[in-house]
Amino acid sequence: MRLNFSIFIKLLMIQYLSVLCVSEDFDFFYFVQQWPGAYCDTKHSCCYPRTGKPAADFGIHGLWPQNKDGSYPQNCNPDSALDEDQISDLTSSLQKDWPSLSCPSSTGFRFWSHEWEKHGTCAESEEIDQHGYFEAALKLKEKANLLQALRNAGVCVCVCVCVDSQLFTFLFHVLIKEALIRYCLLTKMSCSAKYVAGIQPDDGFYDLGSIKEAIKDATGFTPGIECNIDPSKNSQIYQVFMCVDISGSEFIECPVVPKRRCASKVQFPKF
Ligand code: 5GP
Ligand code: 5GP
Repeated sequence: MRLNFSIFIKLLMIQYLSVLCVSEDFDFFYFVQQWPGAYCDTKHSCCYPRTGKPAADFGIHGLWPQNKDGSYPQNCNPDSALDEDQISDLTSSLQKDWPSLSCPSSTGFRFWSHEWEKHGTCAESEEIDQHGYFEAALKLKEKANLLQALRNAGVCVCVCVCVDSQLFTFLFHVLIKEALIRYCLLTKMSCSAKYVAGIQPDDGFYDLGSIKEAIKDATGFTPGIECNIDPSKNSQIYQVFMCVDISGSEFIECPVVPKRRCASKVQFPKF
């Protein structure tokens, strides 16, 4: 009986150590958010969740363990299916911030299960259990408000009045905020700079560099941007990758910027 008990304890220790080992087997996370307008605006259709059309906001796609050499672990523990009870207190936040747009319509649980099984199990540790994994992703989304960052991008129209001429000349410049102010000071023009909408989901085309810069200005870190192609063959902003340390709580500069294809001017589709 005593022998059986000691074997049982040893087995428990081996299992505990194997969980710890799995948790160290990657270098950082990609935190990936998707723009629903781009997910839906392709040849494949999308379906709104059973809870209704999600808000016009970036939604979480996943929190993916990643290695610096570009490789990544996946499906690390086939025995760890997502247990709905473990995340019941997070369900309404997940429905809002991590909606599933694939068809057929679902509550989202299938998408969350897939992400947990494929990616979450590879980060499993004492801190990052099922609840910790989803909670970490929700907190990261709160920290990086991408839509707000893009709206605040500082693309503005300046109406300058040239005072050294008899005729008032109105010039219109579309410039980035700081450059605009410097320009107006240098040229000694009196300038009433007024902001127009920044980078918005209005089907407009925006400079890829300005999109990255706006997110860097707001979060402190340069993102990776992934585009997809709409039925008219326009390159449009689809996913934003940010890098996160292995605790799952702090954004970091990406050790490897994910290389995804985008044109230099990309559409930001309506949703
Ligand atoms: P896709 O082929 O559409 O880019 O990616 C399909 C799936 O593979 C993603 O949803 C994700 O689960 C996984 N994946 C693709 N690229 C990466 C990557 O760079 N890192 C990780 N960890 N997973 C990836
Ligand atoms: P990954 O590409 O991360 O391996 O996983 C994507 C899987 O989740 C696909 O099987 C896809 O059908 C499913 N899925 C469910 N809802 C969504 C969604 O809103 N966006 C994406 N990208 N995939 C979703």
